Amino acid sequence: MSRLVILSNRVADLRKTSQSGGLAVGLADALRQRGGVWFGWDGETLQTQPREATVEQVGNVRMISAAMTVEDYMNYYVGYANSVLWPLFHYRLDLVDFHAPYFDAYQRVNANFAGLVAPYLQDDDLIWVHDYHFIPMANCLRRLGCRQRMGFFLHIPFPPPDLLAASPNHRYLVEALLDYDVLGFQTTADTINFRHYLEEWGVGEVLDERTIRYKGRTIAIDRYPIGIDVETFRDMARNAPDDVRIDSARREKLGRKQIIGVDRLDYSKGLPDRFQAFGKLLAQHPELEKQVTFLQVAPPTREDVNAYSDIRDELEGLTGSINGRFSDFNWTPLRYIHRPVPRETLAALFRASHVGLVTPLRDGMNLVAKEFVAAQDDEDPGVLVLSQFAGAAEDMTEALIVNPYDTDTMAEAIHQALMMPLDERKARHKALLDHILHQDTQRWLATFLNDLETAGGHTNPPPDS
Ligand code: ADP
Repeated sequence: MSRLVILSNRVADLRKTSQSGGLAVGLADALRQRGGVWFGWDGETLQTQPREATVEQVGNVRMISAAMTVEDYMNYYVGYANSVLWPLFHYRLDLVDFHAPYFDAYQRVNANFAGLVAPYLQDDDLIWVHDYHFIPMANCLRRLGCRQRMGFFLHIPFPPPDLLAASPNHRYLVEALLDYDVLGFQTTADTINFRHYLEEWGVGEVLDERTIRYKGRTIAIDRYPIGIDVETFRDMARNAPDDVRIDSARREKLGRKQIIGVDRLDYSKGLPDRFQAFGKLLAQHPELEKQVTFLQVAPPTREDVNAYSDIRDELEGLTGSINGRFSDFNWTPLRYIHRPVPRETLAALFRASHVGLVTPLRDGMNLVAKEFVAAQDDEDPGVLVLSQFAGAAEDMTEALIVNPYDTDTMAEAIHQALMMPLDERKARHKALLDHILHQDTQRWLATFLNDLETAGGHTNPPPDS
């Protein structure tokens, strides 16, 4: 079996992965099984360009990480990755903030990182690059003479060609993607968008739904919907910490139902629309007074990007106005927590909730939707309200699917979820659980790695450099 090399923005600590999300655990397991390397940014910034990476051997896995300069952090990470690619790929042209130095830094950091990891690569390694920070990584590595099989998985959506074309560097990005041997996307819609781009802009040749020819090479593309480790999350949800248990008992005594939302505080998550839908629910259904509370957990993220502080201000305003209008001395309808919460607590909170709101305006997959389903009690499950624009909606069709821009219909869907009879809740939950069990982390890993292992990499001629 070939060694595995993973390149991702950040490297999870292999000695502590049980504390991080399911994805880090899955990747760490795959690395331990095959042996290999995990490379990424160490989260540090320095005044001058680091010449070496930090290398740590944990069992049969080498963890390699490197710092970047303050200037690269601002132009590459805050700039091109999170102020250009993130909004662009989430269909938010209004928030794209393009400056030429951002793009230069994007290329420079990818080339620097490629140079730092290349000495640690072996000829028959499988190289798996993750996400939008590292699109040009295969190109940079190939320029250094690397001939290994290389795969890329995009965790976020891939936009339709007309949107992508709004970026001055769209052709570069797509051609850089074609330097991989396997390209993985979250949904069928993403793979279609990618193929449409190739056809509309005359890049390469689409041979069939899964195969592309480009400069004499063959590239396999497919959808690999990412999943969670269902059993681990279920176990976590069953073992509620005392404070969650006490809070649920109190609500039960008062006959109150809980609605929950858990998201990074990101404009793609549709939080203001969700808050407005909750306000409309209370306005249109006065009988719900003191019968329902909405708990939104939204920890801060990417605060160096302006669009993120704007959304924080907007949510704080909405929370104040909804609570100001509807609260009573013994009822706060909306509780908004702007902090990270331990995974164990989140899992138990999902289980203690009657409705899960996952209503992003656009999302690659959305793992919270899967975690909410995994956490439920099979005998008395809560109801998932899911945006049609989350990748998860392609398969999780038994959720109440909503248009996150339509706050009136969303309010009605929340009402329907709160009132849903037990039989219907159980039937929907069983179907959803089957989906997430079928598409779990292990399957995602196994199918991607299998396709990478059998890809044309070694027989492909090297791309032009
Ligand atoms: P994204 O990757 O865009 O943040 P996902 O829903 O796919 O969205 O994944 C988010 C992950 O982060 C989930 O595993 C979720 O449980 C976790 N998470 C979200 N909010 C919090 C929080 N407040 N505290 C701890 N973990 C969180």
